[in-house]
Amino acid sequence: MMIVMKEGASEEQIQAVVDRIEKAGANAHVSRGQFVTVIGAVGDADSRVAEAGLELAEGVDHVVPIMKSYKLSSLQFKKGERSVIEINGRKLGGGHFALIAGPCTVESREQLFAAAEVCRDAGVPFLRGGAYKPRTSPYSFQGLGEEGLRLLAEAKEEFGMPIATELMDVRDIDAVLEVADIIQIGARNMQNYNLLTEVGRSGRPALLKRGFSSTIEELLMAAEYILKEGNQDVMLCERGIRTFETGYRFTLDLLAVPVLQQLTHLPVIVDPSHAAGRRDLVPPMSLAAAACGADGIVVETHHDPENAVCDGPQAIVASEFAAYAEQVHRAAELAGKTAEIIPA
Ligand code: PEP
Ligand code: MN
Repeated sequence: MMIVMKEGASEEQIQAVVDRIEKAGANAHVSRGQFVTVIGAVGDADSRVAEAGLELAEGVDHVVPIMKSYKLSSLQFKKGERSVIEINGRKLGGGHFALIAGPCTVESREQLFAAAEVCRDAGVPFLRGGAYKPRTSPYSFQGLGEEGLRLLAEAKEEFGMPIATELMDVRDIDAVLEVADIIQIGARNMQNYNLLTEVGRSGRPALLKRGFSSTIEELLMAAEYILKEGNQDVMLCERGIRTFETGYRFTLDLLAVPVLQQLTHLPVIVDPSHAAGRRDLVPPMSLAAAACGADGIVVETHHDPENAVCDGPQAIVASEFAAYAEQVHRAAELAGKTAEIIPA
């Protein structure tokens, strides 16, 4: 962090800034120019210096941050090497493109198994399904809870597919860890820092969804909460943000994909289902996501969407899923990725 003093700042004002930098735990390096003095705060206490409010100190003109506020997630942290998340030999990230597909929520064994079968037959490596659902209305179906987890465990056994499922509440973490190979943190919980810390401590791969009013930097800072507990396996998910547009549900921010990949070593995946809210928009946005370099797509499918209890209108109809997956895999390959396709 650089503190640029006002022209003519007094020695007392410069010394006061130096004292405050040192009090925050950093070293101060003073460079005196002909007109302006610049003070560099050097050391491992960037955030404490930032919080010291030096921009308001007497004689300070402005403050320039030098380091990014996120560290462990930054591409520099791994010297440019990209993270690969590997679960049961199935890879996502670092050149491997993977689909994570399944129903929005687990409704019954019949419904979950129908989706799992279609996904497995299409070569999908990871099965998704929510047992705990973050619903906007408290009157909507909230998920089957532990019964849903039990059905997911059965599907995992039957189809041999690792499971991605959402954790909403720290109190459910032990139950979720029984079955989840990937713990999903929903958009609404992206800034639930206690939850993120516990997922970090669990060491289980995490799928962190971008909050729909969160910036890219806030998403990376949320990932830091998981990473700083020693959990390296975090995938970031763009799932649409809120804008002024009302022509569809959310604005899928695909620019976030290449931009995140310039900033972080973590895999970046896209959820076109929740952004679109309509199944006709899901295939084109999936192709666009794969083409712009996403490391994976998380997508919803249902064998009978008209009777789905949750998110039916956005579910790819099961009978169309294989063709959908094939196209998406081709787009990923065009973008230079290896599509992770598991033979049934
Ligand atoms: C989901 O994936 O089922 C979900 C509810 O997503 P989001 O948290 O992005 O709304
Ligand atoms: Mn859903």
